[in-house]
Formats: sequence, structure tokens, C-alpha cells
Amino acid sequence: MIQDIAPAFLDNSFKPEVRALPGSPVFYFEGNRLALKEDGSVPLFKDIEADDLIYLFDLTKTPCFLTRKRPEGLDLTSLREIRQNRSLGKDMAFAVYTACHLANWYDSSDYCGRCGHKTTFGTKERSRICPECGNIIYPRINPAVILGILNSDKSRILLTKYAGRDFSHYALVAGFTEIGETLEQTCMREAMEEVGLKIKDIKYYKSQPWGSALDILAGFFCMVDGSEEITMDAGELKTALWCSPEEVVLQPDDYSLTNEMMRLFKEGRLV
Ligand SMILES: [Zn+2]
Repeated sequence: MIQDIAPAFLDNSFKPEVRALPGSPVFYFEGNRLALKEDGSVPLFKDIEADDLIYLFDLTKTPCFLTRKRPEGLDLTSLREIRQNRSLGKDMAFAVYTACHLANWYDSSDYCGRCGHKTTFGTKERSRICPECGNIIYPRINPAVILGILNSDKSRILLTKYAGRDFSHYALVAGFTEIGETLEQTCMREAMEEVGLKIKDIKYYKSQPWGSALDILAGFFCMVDGSEEITMDAGELKTALWCSPEEVVLQPDDYSLTNEMMRLFKEGRLV
């Protein structure tokens, strides 16, 4: 998965006193598009002029920063293209996804959502503080589930393809958690909404931060409960079908939790 970068590691503890080194990556985003150098690499502190740096995290031992002023002469590349090209090493790709999530939060927290006053930067933790009304704004992470649904004899897994999205590979049933729901309830609701199936034996597998969508994804396996007849939500999906291990076509990279879950089934490694 994208976060599996050992022996590299990402340390996201809050250290506002950290200053940039010549080799520090500096990220600039417009939405999900990142400024890259001509050779496709992330610009370093020594490459660009930026006087507004915000410390984000350490990638292994190297502090990484955000600028919110577009560096001159750099083109923007979407995270989708970066993933397709696999032009960055996996550790840097994970750093980019995480930086994108943080950049989105910094961009959307300049003003207090309660009273509209300009916010300041928290000094003890990663937060924005409204000096007018005292509102404290923390980075927002959206919880979502991914669901590996198995049929009654575990010989097939339910695969989907999303409707209307520029992603043509197989995926699993997935969806965001609603307020007031447990993750297991999200699983049951999404299975019913997307493919019309009742499920049981919901078992947690692993989780994955997915910064390009501002998510934390929780993966579960479960069994169909009763009828295996699929009733697809055509607004969400263009394909939903039961697949044997041989029929599972994996995604072209190993970034996603979805792909790891499909691979487990395909390789007969589900217990
Ligand atoms: Zn306020």
C-alpha cells in the first residue's frame, strides 16, 4: 500500500520550530495538482524562493514544507498523473498524498467557519485558532470503508467499477461514514445501497490514509447474508459482479488498500 514505505517513514508530529534544509522538499498544490520541476521531481528548498514555508512532516529524516505561493516556472501535475506515471518513489508519493491532505486543510482554514474572522496558527498542536470567537479548527479526516464481500462458499468476491470516474480498474464496494454510524453500520448500508446485498460476519482487515481524497479508509471483509443477487446502484457503479480468484484483475500499482484486499482473495490467502 502507499503507506508501506519502510525503511523510510513519515513522522507527522507537530514541530513548528523546524526550519528548511537545502534538500527539503517544498510542496505547492492547487487542489489535487502539485508543482513539479521539469524533470518530474518535487522542488527542493534550494531550488525555489518561498518565504511562507509551513512545516508539514519529516520524510525519514528530511523535513518537508508547504508553500502557498506558486513557485515561478513550475508546471502543475495532478496526483492521478503522478500515480499513473509512477515517476516518484513510493515514499515521496506517500509524502505527496499526505501533503495534499494537509494543504487542502491549510487552504480551507484561513477563516473561521463559525464567525468568518481570519484565523491564526496554533503553536502547541496543528490547529488554526479564531482570535475572535475562540473556535479551534483541527485537520479534518473523512472516514470511509472498503468492503470485500464474499459469497456463501467464499469462492467469489464482489468487484465493482465506478460510474463516471476516470478510473477504469476493478474496485470494491466503498463509501463514507455518516455521522452517528459505526464503521460496521457503514459497511451494511453501503452494501445495501450499492449492490442490494445483506451482509454478515464483518471483520476488520487494515486501514489506509488516502490524502488525495482527505480520507482514512478502513477495510473489512464480510460474507453475504442470504440472497447473492446483485441489485446495482447505476448512479454509483457501472459494473458489479461476483468474480472467482482467476477473474480478479488487479490494479496496475500496489498503492491501494482495495488492491491489497483483492490480491489476498486472488492468491487464496484469506483465512
Ligand atoms: Zn470565529
